[in-house]
Amino acid sequence: MAKPLPLSGLEVIIIGAGFAGLTAAIECRKRGASVTLFDSAASRRQLGDIISFGSNSGRIFRSWPGVEEKLDPVCHHSDGLVFRTYDDEYLCTQTWDAEADWGKRFNGHRGEIHEVVWDHALSIGVDIRLGRKVTEYFEDEREAGVIIDGERLTADVVLAGDGVRSLARTIVLGFEDKPKSSGYAVYRSWMGTDKLKENPLTAWLADPNIDHHVGWLGPDVHFLVATLQNGTACSWVLTHKDDADVEESWSAPGYVEEAVKAVEGWAPVVHAIIRATPEEKLVDWKLVFRDPLPTWISPKRRIALIGDAAHPFLPTSIQGASQSMEDGVTAAICLELAGKANVPEAIRAYEKIRYERVHAVQQTGVTNRDNWHKADFDFVRKNPESVKLPRQDWVLNFDCAAHTYEVFDKTVAELRKESS
Ligand SMILES: Cc1cc2nc3c(=O)[nH]c(=O)nc-3n(C[C@H](O)[C@H](O)[C@H](O)COP(=O)(O)OP(=O)(O)OC[C@H]3O[C@@H](n4cnc5c(N)ncnc54)[C@H](O)[C@@H]3O)c2cc1C
Repeated sequence: MAKPLPLSGLEVIIIGAGFAGLTAAIECRKRGASVTLFDSAASRRQLGDIISFGSNSGRIFRSWPGVEEKLDPVCHHSDGLVFRTYDDEYLCTQTWDAEADWGKRFNGHRGEIHEVVWDHALSIGVDIRLGRKVTEYFEDEREAGVIIDGERLTADVVLAGDGVRSLARTIVLGFEDKPKSSGYAVYRSWMGTDKLKENPLTAWLADPNIDHHVGWLGPDVHFLVATLQNGTACSWVLTHKDDADVEESWSAPGYVEEAVKAVEGWAPVVHAIIRATPEEKLVDWKLVFRDPLPTWISPKRRIALIGDAAHPFLPTSIQGASQSMEDGVTAAICLELAGKANVPEAIRAYEKIRYERVHAVQQTGVTNRDNWHKADFDFVRKNPESVKLPRQDWVLNFDCAAHTYEVFDKTVAELRKESS
């Protein structure tokens, strides 16, 4: 008879079918747990636009059979990121050769990548239930649970990946955590390239043979464009100063002329790309952040926050989704190693293993942004390489699964010492 998998008999409730929740679900399920995943969305819709996964999370996708093969055709494949000044002077090209050994990156449409991961979760037996909004979390020494439509549902553990506006945070923190404006907003679009083809200034972006990735940088504004899928798709993001009221939404409408105003005096090609954007494809996304949470786990250690619920990221870290996936893997391995009888210890170990790394990576969002936005452009023109993104080995060349297996025993020993 086959040996039971290490998490056989463990019941896990996961809230939120984003990349944190889906990763946790897949990783718990493949170790034998019974996993039920609830999401408030009524259906799986192709929402969002460009999202990036570094090689640290790329290795997680590649560990799931068949997923890499499905992601490759929809993802962006350029040799490098070309940097130009706001007035279109060429600065430098950042290539990825130096990090070839770290593994593969995946950048593409959030909805398309999400669909591949979702299908994989379903194929291995994750029970995904949509249209189920959690209104309350609870726990005692023996179990944890949620209330959905008045129904009380319990399990051994609840992993809450309910995103930036997490309700689960309230039970973990004991108070409601309010978002803050970051002082920036992002106009973002994902569009077809037909209109770009019509204009000689932008036709090169529709090249079916090459994916382009270009960043124009100016004082307190950056504009990044990526093309993919044989020159048929184009995504751009324009990050700019904005002190408007905080309203987090992936679908707030943006207006072309307002976006053009944010890059007044910039190169005509930038204006041409923005003006080629159908207004219904333009989103105005207010960038918020929250102070780092003092803890991600509930008082009885049966509920853990994962992903953005625990730690929202600035997009300039290019690591938000990757860190969410690392959380899911680490949480599942901690549960595996601790076992059903020791869920609270698993949850404490998960937090301890992840906390410092996540905060260090979060900081890179601020430093990367300021490196571009606060740059002295006379200096940049003389030192074009200064705009390159730092590509840290400790962030990207990291195997969170191997790391968790390596440090788990030591971490638990430290936690026991702290509590004795
Ligand atoms: C619709 C959408 C579009 C996005 N588009 C982009 C993008 O284009 N580019 C980008 O870089 N990032 C995007 N993101 C954010 C990005 O996916 C995350 O920052 C990152 O992947 C971390 O994911 P997460 O799983 O922690 O959170 P999220 O991806 O935000 O997932 C949280 C999930 O929790 C569910 N949820 C929330 N509250 C409840 C509740 N009370 N009960 C049940 N379910 C609940 C939500 O419906 C959502 O599916 C988007 C997120 C969403 C939800």
